[in-house]
Amino acid sequence: SAPFDLARIRADFPILSEKVRGKRLAYLDNAATTQKPEVVLAALDRYYRHQNSNVHRAVHELAERATNAYEGARDTIASFFNATREEIVFSRGTTESINLVARCYLAPRIQPGDEVLVTAMEHHSNIVPWQLVGAKTIAAPVNDAGELIFEEWLKLLSPHTKLVAVGHCSNSLGTVNPIEDMIREAHARGIPVLVDGAQSIAHIAVDVKALDVDFFACSAHKAYGPTGFGTLYAKREHLEAMQPWHGGGDMIKTVAFSGSTWNDVPYKFEAGTPDMSGAIGFATALDYIRSIGIDAIHAHEHAVLEYATPRVAEIPGLRLIGTARNKGGILSFVMDNAHPHDIGSILDQEGVAIRTGHHCTMPLMERFGVPATARASLAVYNGTDDIDQLVAALHKVQRLFS
Ligand code: PMP
Repeated sequence: SAPFDLARIRADFPILSEKVRGKRLAYLDNAATTQKPEVVLAALDRYYRHQNSNVHRAVHELAERATNAYEGARDTIASFFNATREEIVFSRGTTESINLVARCYLAPRIQPGDEVLVTAMEHHSNIVPWQLVGAKTIAAPVNDAGELIFEEWLKLLSPHTKLVAVGHCSNSLGTVNPIEDMIREAHARGIPVLVDGAQSIAHIAVDVKALDVDFFACSAHKAYGPTGFGTLYAKREHLEAMQPWHGGGDMIKTVAFSGSTWNDVPYKFEAGTPDMSGAIGFATALDYIRSIGIDAIHAHEHAVLEYATPRVAEIPGLRLIGTARNKGGILSFVMDNAHPHDIGSILDQEGVAIRTGHHCTMPLMERFGVPATARASLAVYNGTDDIDQLVAALHKVQRLFS
């Protein structure tokens, strides 16, 4: 891949030249969703202009184009994660992927009292699905820096633990969890592991085979792809052993009133007309990431985070929440006298888009004794100019509220 060229990368994202509130846009809400590069927009447009038809069903040329593009996308996505195509189930996103594992893997296997071991920094979508199928969610604690306390996590692995579920990277704090060590320790005790990769795939290389992870869930929209699409990677042996959840077209081999039989994996988990353009858009987004290089992206975002951290931290009355040593491009903070919502509103007036609230991590907010934080989160197209705009706006907040 070519040397990292921020100006060229920015030019790939048309929305970045929008003016907001009459100001230059500093888009720092990437953990919520990323913007989409021209190649992804073009792939979606091309699909509907030149390829659209239902997949898997017809003999006509357009159906063949649609099916080829759609199943080609599965190959691209599988290779991005070093998986095989049979192990990639298409879903609506991380949330649906985790719910699939809860319904189809966990539910038939749990007894009263069984547990899913999570961490105190999980997103609600890695807590509630387990509770919905009757599992107890046990949360391993985090230290004041927002890092998992590994020895405490180890102690919580027990014969009741039916599954370990962990976020690769915290959406609220940026903490990167030691998933390699967690997978090794869990497997040593015969416990399978699900990794919530919503916040990692656009920032950190993921190789599901090297990790030996059992389940890996992610969303396209946080990795420069379209909304409402995502994937579940699962080891083939798990997918083969699991019963389907949604019934309907495409997930069957035969249907009779006396009973039906299921299609092969992954199709038995993909009932109904799928999101063809979503799959194609995601594959295009992953190719885009690959064209820059995930390691180059990681290095760039890390450099911007290193630039940002001391400048944000020195603002009087500001407290960073989450100072992990191994951290992705996320800065979460609170300020004396200013509610996060006020911070967000004032920043918006300055063209700076951040998120405020509990970030779907209410237990984590409780752990840090705050109802909400303000969160700035980075993507490949952010630079030190975005940080300068953020810091200037935060100084304005500080002056207004001190
Ligand atoms: N897990 C984490 C860590 C997330 O950040 C998010 C999105 N905020 C999700 C899961 C859920 O992803 P989606 O809403 O795309 O299903």
